Amino acid sequence: SVEFRNVVKTWGSHRVLNNINLTIAPGEVVTILGPSGSGKSTLIRLINQLETLSGGEILIDNQPTRALQGRKLRQLRSRIGFVFQQFNLYPHLTAGQNITLALTSVYGVDADRARSRAQSLLAQVGLADKTDHYPSQLSGGQQQRVAIARALAPSPQILLFDEPTSALDPEMIGEVLQVMKGLAHSGITMVVVTHEMQFARDIADRVVFIDGGEILDIAPPQTFFTRPAHPRARRFLQTLL
Ligand code: ATP
Ligand code: MG
Repeated sequence: SVEFRNVVKTWGSHRVLNNINLTIAPGEVVTILGPSGSGKSTLIRLINQLETLSGGEILIDNQPTRALQGRKLRQLRSRIGFVFQQFNLYPHLTAGQNITLALTSVYGVDADRARSRAQSLLAQVGLADKTDHYPSQLSGGQQQRVAIARALAPSPQILLFDEPTSALDPEMIGEVLQVMKGLAHSGITMVVVTHEMQFARDIADRVVFIDGGEILDIAPPQTFFTRPAHPRARRFLQTLL
């Protein structure tokens, strides 16, 4: 589980997250919705300590994560995968090498096993024939699928996505969402910042609506999209129509 307890994040005097309380169950799929600048990225980046907390705490499987360092921090990160909007693949490495790098250099997996793990993950995301391609030889949708395979490599319990389809041409969004749908409810916990409302409707167990650094609504998608409880959620949904 991932538990936010009274989480606060400030940048200087700017409070970008204010008193966040949220518990995400193991295996749950949660989408984070909200306007630009509302704090969505900050919220998920705090989970694997890409940002540091200003107040409160975050517990992973009931274990406080504040101030973990060294081996403990690496262990935490190995349980959490992150998929970025801009893929962030290493341009000088092939698709296969992008996946094996952390396995061999951080997790001590031997090269043969890492290669076969990469191959099976690439097959899982529909890219079995692209192992030796460099990112520049792949489409945006293919690169993002490699990035998902890379995030899955250490068998994380939690997968965080920050607008994984926002940098893609429209015709490539579907193939990435399809891979994400395949992962949902497979046991892995997914926290997905997205503007893909249909994905949120179809796949999420719960929607979290955030605005101005505060959680204004947490609801199952059928409730959130048909009867949003908060006026600002109603306005947000209207602007998308
Ligand atoms: P978007 O939909 O545009 O990605 P978001 O909901 O992900 O927005 P965040 O990126 O979490 O929003 O930013 C929340 C607030 O924190 C914004 O006001 C932003 O300007 C501020 N912020 C984020 N990162 C930093 C930083 N490194 N330094 C200062 N302020 C920051
Ligand atoms: Mg963001």
